Amino acid sequence: MNAKINIAIDGHSSCGKSTIAKAISKRYQMRYIDTGAMYRAICLYCLQNNLISKNKIDETLLEVHLPDIYVEFKYNADKKISETYLNDYNVEGLIRTLEISQSVSLVAKIPIVREKLVLLQQKIGKNKNVVMDGRDIGTKVFPHAELKFFVTASPEVRANRRWEELRKSGEKVSYEEVLSNLKMRDNNDINRKMNPLRMSKDAIKIDNSNISLQDQNDFIFSHIDKILKI
Ligand code: C5P
Repeated sequence: MNAKINIAIDGHSSCGKSTIAKAISKRYQMRYIDTGAMYRAICLYCLQNNLISKNKIDETLLEVHLPDIYVEFKYNADKKISETYLNDYNVEGLIRTLEISQSVSLVAKIPIVREKLVLLQQKIGKNKNVVMDGRDIGTKVFPHAELKFFVTASPEVRANRRWEELRKSGEKVSYEEVLSNLKMRDNNDINRKMNPLRMSKDAIKIDNSNISLQDQNDFIFSHIDKILKI
């Protein structure tokens, strides 16, 4: 099946957007694009090239470097997942750390970065069949997406889930650090000037603080089936 639709999934940090997008991608064979990974990859580049120091980013230097920063996704057939590449290096394992989470908002608020990534995302979705998650997908990247979801949950529930994930990946981090990081990222995402996090008027809101994954998927799949007339 090649679904002639795009699905936009926006929402707060760590509310399970990627879990939803992956489930949709698997069930409807749609291409999944994690736009947060793109901002994370550029943030990694900035850290590796000393463009960020003392929580400040050198925007002038980043503008010089930006044309040479290539972010793309390649499918790993063994793992059956799409992985993030930065200038041809697989950075999937490097971009999910708390260090990146702490600096990524600095990068995500820079207009030239957003312009570059939004254009790239629109190009990827031009022929449809894409499920994309992020903060501005329904409002800016695909304002005419056939289906939009806006996902949220209480900060405590989200922090707990994220903390578990980070601990499982071997990162030594406290629950309080994770909670304060995600509150900081929400605040930055909502208050940035360019493409702030907003719920699109035509999005379907899901608060998954107290619903099971199965119920959430059933709800989402029923909306997609309706659009696809399955
Ligand atoms: O989704 P994830 O938490 O991995 O995204 C990392 C960061 O990238 C977010 O905190 C947010 O600031 C930024 N982001 C964004 N716009 C998007 C996706 C992510 O500003 N479409």
